[in-house]
Amino acid sequence: MCELHGGEDFGQDVLDAGLLVRSSVRGVVARSGTFEGVVEGFEAYVTRHGADQQAEVLRFPPLFPRADYGRVNHIHNFPDLLGSVHTFLGSERDHRKLVLEFEDGQDWTRGLVSAETMLIPAACYPLYPLLEGELTGTRCVDLRSWVFRHEPSDDLPRMQCFRQREYVRVGTADQAWAHRELWRERALELLLNLGLPAVSQPANDPFFGRGGRLAKATQREQDLKYEVLVPVTSTDKPTAISSQNCHLDAFGTAFGIRLPDGSPAHTACVGFGLERIALALFKTHGLRLEDWPTSVRAELGL
Ligand code: ZN
Repeated sequence: MCELHGGEDFGQDVLDAGLLVRSSVRGVVARSGTFEGVVEGFEAYVTRHGADQQAEVLRFPPLFPRADYGRVNHIHNFPDLLGSVHTFLGSERDHRKLVLEFEDGQDWTRGLVSAETMLIPAACYPLYPLLEGELTGTRCVDLRSWVFRHEPSDDLPRMQCFRQREYVRVGTADQAWAHRELWRERALELLLNLGLPAVSQPANDPFFGRGGRLAKATQREQDLKYEVLVPVTSTDKPTAISSQNCHLDAFGTAFGIRLPDGSPAHTACVGFGLERIALALFKTHGLRLEDWPTSVRAELGL
């Protein structure tokens, strides 16, 4: 058993230690140098243990085209989490009105119009549009992105904007399934090896509303999603710090990614929630890096 460190309110302890700094909006926080060091150390650790994947590296900005957003079912499944970019495209007269509304404390955002971009809801979404057409062989892509989910919460690990590191496999149904299975085991091993009291469990995405119930049940029935969980702010409700997902041919179909026989490609991904993993490490090993086990610090180069 791992001894859990920290007081009753781990989130407050993290803030008091200056590891993270709150803003006036719940779930939007600044990261300290020490916190970032842990994130970087973990990423290097994943890169070392993912080297056999011979993955192509791609780093997207936190935005992707609105037109591509329209091709995934996000608006149907997760409307409550989306983030849309809006801007001002009006005349000088419209500008005067905008400034007046702003200065009067009115809702000045009504005069804004949508820009051509959305905030990324999952690190792998911007990849699929780039793969449209016939796939030659299987591809593995190493991604890291800032992602946005509008779920303001006082629970520190539940941030509105955070980073996901992913390895995505695109290929046949068997190749995608094998990738998910490989990383279901490997992600758990990598996290256990850092001394985290991690467990792997079948999971489902938070599909919206009553209609989402069926989607959740189907996802579980088809055994498509697993999560690695670690107690961070609660022992009863441990936090998901990694997920391993099989998407079947959903993205292959949506983005016209075809196998040589013309059928849609299958995809699978492993995702690591970098901030949550850092928080799980601080929870498990203590708020001061000096107190962490030597082996864990060595693995993370800290
Ligand atoms: Zn993904």
